[in-house]
Amino acid sequence: MTGRVLAIGAAILLGFARPALAEPLPMAEVAPGLFVHQGEHAEATEGNQGDIANVGFVVGERGVAVIDTGGSAEVGRRLREAVEAVTDKPVLYVVNTHMHPDHIFGNAAFPGVPVAAHAELERAVAARFDGYRQRLGEELGAAVAEAVVPVRVELPVETTRELDLGGRRLILTAHRTAHTNNDLTVRDLRTDTLWTGDLLFVERVPAIDGSALGWLRVLEELMAQPAKRAVPGHGPPSVPWPDAAQAQRRYLTAVVEGVRAVQKRMGGMREAVETVAADEKGRWLLFEDYHPRNVTATFAELEWE
Ligand SMILES: [Zn+2]
Repeated sequence: MTGRVLAIGAAILLGFARPALAEPLPMAEVAPGLFVHQGEHAEATEGNQGDIANVGFVVGERGVAVIDTGGSAEVGRRLREAVEAVTDKPVLYVVNTHMHPDHIFGNAAFPGVPVAAHAELERAVAARFDGYRQRLGEELGAAVAEAVVPVRVELPVETTRELDLGGRRLILTAHRTAHTNNDLTVRDLRTDTLWTGDLLFVERVPAIDGSALGWLRVLEELMAQPAKRAVPGHGPPSVPWPDAAQAQRRYLTAVVEGVRAVQKRMGGMREAVETVAADEKGRWLLFEDYHPRNVTATFAELEWE
């Protein structure tokens, strides 16, 4: 504890001497040596620089693993500053929980650090990179878009992989298609913490970019595995597990069952978007931004059932 306080003090002192220092992201230490920054519940804007997802890091004896890096190089730099405020140990790994821009574009601030991710991630990002970058340019400006880089995955995860931070092991698990086709969870064995990435949304409505049915299956598997706490991809830095997943399971179930009911009575997409899971409105932030897309995607997914 004392060492860390001293390190923070030293970082603050150094901060005065170093020009153009990015301001460290505020972090919560949700378990010993496990730090989380909560992103805003918002779309990416110039104001928030894409700081809209939870990001953080885990400190071992030998070094640090950063888990997700934020939605721009600037957020990544601020995350790096947050690491340096806590420890002078090197960043050994960047772990990306999945392909979405708000989780990967801060990778640009960690050049040369090996990236661990789902074995499908590199291909998934490459296929979408131009579109992701164009949208980033529209939201945050051309200079921000210029600064991001495609993801190269040096440590692909097919099933599971262990990262040793020195006396502290992280177990990375690749999942079948759920939120996306490249979701990865991280378990910190020392503190029994499950970092879910966007397999868990809390407060903010889930966004289905993979498979609603697949997500429900993966969620059941995860919920059957106890942990002291979870770190969701969006929401508070630490939530009770598996209790915090109940609302998301309820939402996804309502979408699937609602779409099935509409299709059974030969209703169309429009009717589905207007009626399915309507009572979930008011229970989630950004509902209007994502729910219609979720219903549309699920309608297409279930059409051939
Ligand atoms: Zn996501």
